[in-house]
Amino acid sequence: MNATLLRPARVWTAEFGEPREGFAVLVQGNRIARVDRADAVKDEARAVDLPGMTLLPGLMDLHSHLFLHPYNITSWDDQVLKESEAFRTVRAVKHAKDTLDAGFTLLRDLGTEGAGYADAALKRAIDSGIVPGPRLIVTTRAIVASGGYAPMRKNYRPDCCLHAGAEEVSGVDECVRAVRHQAAHGADWIKLYADYRVGPNGETLPTFSLEELKAIVNTARDLGRPVAAHSMNDDAMRRCIEAGVDTIEHGYSGTRETFQRMAEKDIAFLPTITVAEAISEYFHGYKRGGKPTRRMEDAANAFRLAREEGVVIGCGSDVGPFPHGESYRELGWMVKLGMSPREALESATSVAAKIIRRDDLGHIREGALADLAAVEGQPDRDICAIAKVRFVMKDGAVVKGMP
Ligand SMILES: [Zn+2]
Repeated sequence: MNATLLRPARVWTAEFGEPREGFAVLVQGNRIARVDRADAVKDEARAVDLPGMTLLPGLMDLHSHLFLHPYNITSWDDQVLKESEAFRTVRAVKHAKDTLDAGFTLLRDLGTEGAGYADAALKRAIDSGIVPGPRLIVTTRAIVASGGYAPMRKNYRPDCCLHAGAEEVSGVDECVRAVRHQAAHGADWIKLYADYRVGPNGETLPTFSLEELKAIVNTARDLGRPVAAHSMNDDAMRRCIEAGVDTIEHGYSGTRETFQRMAEKDIAFLPTITVAEAISEYFHGYKRGGKPTRRMEDAANAFRLAREEGVVIGCGSDVGPFPHGESYRELGWMVKLGMSPREALESATSVAAKIIRRDDLGHIREGALADLAAVEGQPDRDICAIAKVRFVMKDGAVVKGMP
């Protein structure tokens, strides 16, 4: 069996608490075979020295869009309405590589935004070794209420045939049908949008009734698919909680009581703080390090409330609107807003693994899948080090940093 002995300056994994110096990690095949003091691990394996580096479990971003690219280059509407699915897929292949090179070995990709089921095809190509990329959890088209998502019809001629950003449904029957259809096309999770800017003055309001949400969640559950809900409006969040979704995305206007209920029902939160920064930069004149916009303040407030109420918080950045390969910025924000660097690292490793129900990922321990990243410096002390990924292994194969 193929074996590699990794000898970094230190090893960090959630169970260790403090990083351990002078440790080595033996990988056999696609699994971690041993984690011990370097002098105790004697093996015929090919050794890879990683001086000055901290070895971490492969990082995970649980909210990404591989089929989008930054809106300051091409607006969302132009990407969805003018770029072909083929062109967007070619871009997504590049995005997948950029992600893996940044040490992110798993993405939960929350909707192709008009690129159909191409995410399931990309996942297949990655899993078959045709192109490099992270492990993917895909959701295909995602589900929205009729007229409850972009492109917004009022911005176009009413007789325009607009390509939809997600699958539109109304009523319980259509909700059930969409879940079954997406699952059949390869969705690992079901993604729904529980609110959107549908108010008369563009206010964000709930788009699905409680009955519709319950129909989506129950059908998904029958099919073994967890549900991720995009939700910013507090009423919509409440409905999602009552319907029994598994994760809530964004949550910018969530109240303390709502986060309390999430904690009680063990619904995880993906705060997507970085996308609030990106949108503010592109469209609201925000300058990095300057005065935060209202949207950024809302995101920060939601993150603070969720922490105070003990909600499980995973790393979910909403990367796509900002460049692929920069998911690490979310960890930087989490630390800036109060987490310790170690907590932030956990959100992208052990906690993320728990949210996606995978105990064979997110840890450096014997028997776990060998998804690993080594960074220059000590990210447990200074989270900025997380941007300096020099070595990446996925499923036991070195994908970056071969000496
Ligand atoms: Zn998103």
